[in-house]
Amino acid sequence: MEQHIGLITRGINNIYTVQEGDTSYLCRIKGKQLSQIEEEYNPLAVGDRVYFVPTNGEEGLVLSRLERKNSFQRWNAKGGTNQTVVANMDLIVCVTSSDTPPFRPRFIDRVIACSRNVEVLIVMNKCDILLTEDEYERFVLYKKLGYSILGVSAKTGENLDRLSALLAGKLVAFVGQSGVGKSTLINKLLHVEQRTGEVSEKYNRGRHTTNHALMLKGPNFTIVDTPGVREFLVPHTEKSELLHAFPEFTPYASQCAYEGCLHQDEPGCRVKQAVEEEAIHYDRYESYLRMLASLDEKKPQWMGKNERSNSWHARYERDESQEY
Ligand code: GDP
Ligand code: ZN
Repeated sequence: MEQHIGLITRGINNIYTVQEGDTSYLCRIKGKQLSQIEEEYNPLAVGDRVYFVPTNGEEGLVLSRLERKNSFQRWNAKGGTNQTVVANMDLIVCVTSSDTPPFRPRFIDRVIACSRNVEVLIVMNKCDILLTEDEYERFVLYKKLGYSILGVSAKTGENLDRLSALLAGKLVAFVGQSGVGKSTLINKLLHVEQRTGEVSEKYNRGRHTTNHALMLKGPNFTIVDTPGVREFLVPHTEKSELLHAFPEFTPYASQCAYEGCLHQDEPGCRVKQAVEEEAIHYDRYESYLRMLASLDEKKPQWMGKNERSNSWHARYERDESQEY
């Protein structure tokens, strides 16, 4: 049977929509190999490319996954395992807001840590509401660290043309905390530059908030909307892997007394000294320490169900709610 290559545009209950050109196939996964990837909550994510065979009509079977060039992964506390939310994106857009919910830089820090080998754009929605001076300072810090930032307002339309230009030609995933205005923003973006009479349906997740990622075609870009969340927990990884999300540590890290220093309590830690000297923002450092600690507390399911601490998640949630 002839093998085809397709793109996963949706996945619900192990039924995947695989797109090839203009045709979509509803596919299951063939056999056990791919469906038994133990280290992951879901074997396939929106954005994955797969080999598949059409069976009858517009149904098919997925045979295998092509290698991922990048991913956005989070820790799924319920499943006790990592979960790939999207793969192979050109850009991750982290939508945040200046108010209701309040600006939460540590949420952004975690989004950056969950993004592996993919560029992150930080969008501050509701910029019609001003940030405090401290918040503004923490926000523009991302620019100094090398991330793109942009203030927009889905309400007034401010900078939506600039955002749209940054998305041109790309496959982008929008991630964000519930309430930041992600749906309102996506709805506006899908209509920007659409000047002909053909008006697409108003896009709104509305009350029936779905728990899966959705791929939506814009005028000259494609958006993957991911479910709004309360929090992203960083995936289970090697501790040193977290450092990719803290590029400002790098120039100091090479001067630490210990090779492989994790910049916690090690003597002669140059990173910690840089925090004391205010060369590294203390809140970014604090953010790092929290993520590091969270890695100690999570035990993947495949490392033995009985060893897992049940109280961890509840404790973590409590900590987080006191954060700001
Ligand atoms: P989501 O949960 O992130 O999808 O958020 P929604 O799109 O449902 O928006 C949450 C609330 O924020 C709604 O009441 C919106 O009207 C409001 N909102 C969205 N964008 C803006 C904005 O740019 N400025 C202001 N002031 N409110 C906004
Ligand atoms: Zn150190």
